[in-house]
Amino acid sequence: MSSQLPVVVVGGGTAGCMVSSHLANNTSHPIVLIEPGELSEHDDNSRFFDVLADSELTQQIHDVVQARALGGGSAVNGMLLTGEEPDFARGLTRMANEEDIGFMGSFLLQNGGRFTRLWWNGGRWNPGRAVHHLEEERRISIIREEVVSLEISSGSVVGVRTGSQVVPCARVVLCAGALVSPQILMRSQVMPEQEIIPQNHYSVSVVAALRERNSSLFDTAVIKEILLSSGEMFMVNAYERVSAELSNFGLLTVSHMNPSHGLKDEDAMAVARDIATELADSLRLCKEVGDVVVDEEVRPLSHVSSTCISITDGNGRVQHVDGLWVADASVLPRVPPCTPAAPVTMEALRIAQIITRELT
Ligand SMILES: Cc1cc2nc3c(=O)[nH]c(=O)nc-3n(C[C@H](O)[C@H](O)[C@H](O)COP(=O)(O)OP(=O)(O)OC[C@H]3O[C@@H](n4cnc5c(N)ncnc54)[C@H](O)[C@@H]3O)c2cc1C
Repeated sequence: MSSQLPVVVVGGGTAGCMVSSHLANNTSHPIVLIEPGELSEHDDNSRFFDVLADSELTQQIHDVVQARALGGGSAVNGMLLTGEEPDFARGLTRMANEEDIGFMGSFLLQNGGRFTRLWWNGGRWNPGRAVHHLEEERRISIIREEVVSLEISSGSVVGVRTGSQVVPCARVVLCAGALVSPQILMRSQVMPEQEIIPQNHYSVSVVAALRERNSSLFDTAVIKEILLSSGEMFMVNAYERVSAELSNFGLLTVSHMNPSHGLKDEDAMAVARDIATELADSLRLCKEVGDVVVDEEVRPLSHVSSTCISITDGNGRVQHVDGLWVADASVLPRVPPCTPAAPVTMEALRIAQIITRELT
């Protein structure tokens, strides 16, 4: 057993699993991960809504669904990779094809859509599995609790407080997600008390009653990107059903992908509603479809980000506290104009490499 104080990673989600695996594989420091969620048992199930229906793996924070699982958002997300495939995921993702989709995907393809890449290659890309193996090999220890706050002494982080203990540490990397990481920093008086307003994508939905029950391989695999001459970007996603229980309703979401301040923009949402209305009119012409409704409400996606940029430098280091970093979606300079798991992971890897250089 090493006598060194550990590096503690708070939160074993998309970023936290990447950081703890990288540190365990590239430094000799003991690594302790504090993550309340369990490893998902659904990584072989290609249907997103089946996984979301497991209430053990998610939690609602404010008005947004967030993961509570080892692997975080990557264990429960829609598996869409709409941007470029990053280097670390070569061979671990694949392009969707005709065999993956049902009526809603085909409809969007015929209306200007394209297949997207999926975080799937015979199984879901869940970085929690790599961490689980490292735990079995005793290269990472996992404490299955929630972190409440950090212990700071003379300007340095010295411990992490959970509901039942204080874990002494040499350094801390905060990866509890863009809604919880700032809460922990506020409770630790590292960040001034304030309302947490994440950047995000907002969407308008169209729900269509389907005459035949859908049994596609994936719940979503086709998107359509719309770029206006004003520079505004929208993304339409086709979902084969609206939830695990409601398989006979298809769904289209129209999301604003590049909000200028990362916040809901009413003018852009009016454009999203126009796009949704036009798609609804086309759906009504299809013999496979019954009633079609455009949802009046604008809803946030689970793409929260950028809540800790004011207190970190460009490399995730928290200003004025030694030994403390944030490496999750909180430190993305803005919400990305694509599905965010790849940018989150790439940023986490970059920060982990910087910490590794400091430790070695
Ligand atoms: C339902 C859903 C669908 C999505 N669909 C897509 C998609 O199709 N494609 C895509 O690219 N992205 C998608 N995303 C977004 C993407 O998954 C997230 O942007 C990404 O996972 C964020 O990573 P993170 O590390 O910042 O946070 P998370 O991955 O959420 O990790 C945070 C971790 O912290 C843990 N935690 C919470 N509170 C505490 C605490 N007090 N102490 C310790 N640990 C704590 C949580 O259990 C969790 O494991 C989706 C997300 C969700 C939730």
